[in-house]
Amino acid sequence: MKILVLNSGSSSVKFQLFDMGDNRVIASGLVEKIGEASSYAKLKDVGADKIYEERAPLKDHHEGLEAMRRLFVSSNILHDFSELDGIGHRIVHGGESFSDSALVTPDVIAKIEQNSVLAPLHNPGHLAGIKNAMHESGKKVPHVVVFDTVFHQTIPEYAYRYALPFDLCKRLHIRRYGFHGTSHHYVTKKAAEYLGVPYEKFNAVSLHLGNGASACAVQGGKSVDTSMGLSPLEGLIMGTRSGDMDPAVLTYLLNLGELTAEGIDAFLNKKSGLLGICGSNDMREVVAKMHEGDERAHLAFEMFCYRIKKYIGAYYAVLGRVDAVVFTGGIGENAPYSREKICNDLTHMGIKIDHELNFAASGGIRDLSVPDAAVKTLVVPTNEELEIALETKRVIENL
Ligand code: ADP
Repeated sequence: MKILVLNSGSSSVKFQLFDMGDNRVIASGLVEKIGEASSYAKLKDVGADKIYEERAPLKDHHEGLEAMRRLFVSSNILHDFSELDGIGHRIVHGGESFSDSALVTPDVIAKIEQNSVLAPLHNPGHLAGIKNAMHESGKKVPHVVVFDTVFHQTIPEYAYRYALPFDLCKRLHIRRYGFHGTSHHYVTKKAAEYLGVPYEKFNAVSLHLGNGASACAVQGGKSVDTSMGLSPLEGLIMGTRSGDMDPAVLTYLLNLGELTAEGIDAFLNKKSGLLGICGSNDMREVVAKMHEGDERAHLAFEMFCYRIKKYIGAYYAVLGRVDAVVFTGGIGENAPYSREKICNDLTHMGIKIDHELNFAASGGIRDLSVPDAAVKTLVVPTNEELEIALETKRVIENL
């Protein structure tokens, strides 16, 4: 079974082709800078370790996906998209309309369109990807949408509501949705498998720490709380996003004339977080600057780790019993200093990591805990594309 996974943004499309016999990546690539003169499409034949590239202005997603199809044909990986068993699409925001992955139908497209108000930066690009991929594949290939928000649809109402006027929130669908759902689901499933615990009995605090970062409380294999909210802004400190803060800061800045209503989005999403504190949004740079004695970088690092520690404590209280703390994402997988700082002094909660194991270089799933730790601390490399492929396969097989 061959499944193509697409992650379509407003000006780019990332893709991976999977052989679902052994979940192997056959080819991967991207179409970049759609709409610009410098656009290009690239495909890597993973088995042959060969790159195919096309550089030409691609004015829209239609031309972008045509270029992708040409690369599949010229590399001899596919003769035609009709050979695909399915195409899976990553969708950031499913709003309240979706509590599972879904086969693409006109009704599903209309619902994703309606949810664009909640994710104006993401959903329009996803829709352009779906519509043009459907055009390229012909009618026989099923398309499936897999949402970042779906895993969190099991969060109870008392945890997903904001304490704001109820009717207004209901009418405008204001609530916690949560994101990184495919990642939290994938890594906690892998962690349960690794520890030999049935997923439906598995309790974990999952920490996806990348440029965007979120924590998730998983109880019996279901998300019961997560740190991101209506948008991917709430919760942890991120590369350029503030995470939790008192909204009164905004009123204060607006009243002082230091900020305009139009500037709020960029202020919170692009100028804050690690970047706002110390001038770097990349954890590698923050750690390097900290080791050179930069005080702001040190503060940014401490703030980042402290916020995560608070969420571990909160979710520990929510879950009662925790089998594992799971680290994933670029920082979670690769930044031992952060893991050490976050897990430091949590022995009373059964969380204790071994210094050598934490600093040992390894790319796979691994247990960092000391032998007698009641709660296992694991690193599980995330694979959102594979999770989307697996979901696509599941939906197609249930048709
Ligand atoms: P995204 O959320 O965009 O997918 P990633 O999951 O790739 O991002 O994570 C990016 C973050 O991971 C950056 O802050 C980067 O500095 C950090 N990172 C990647 N590799 C390392 C490393 N070896 N050490 C420390 N941080 C790392």
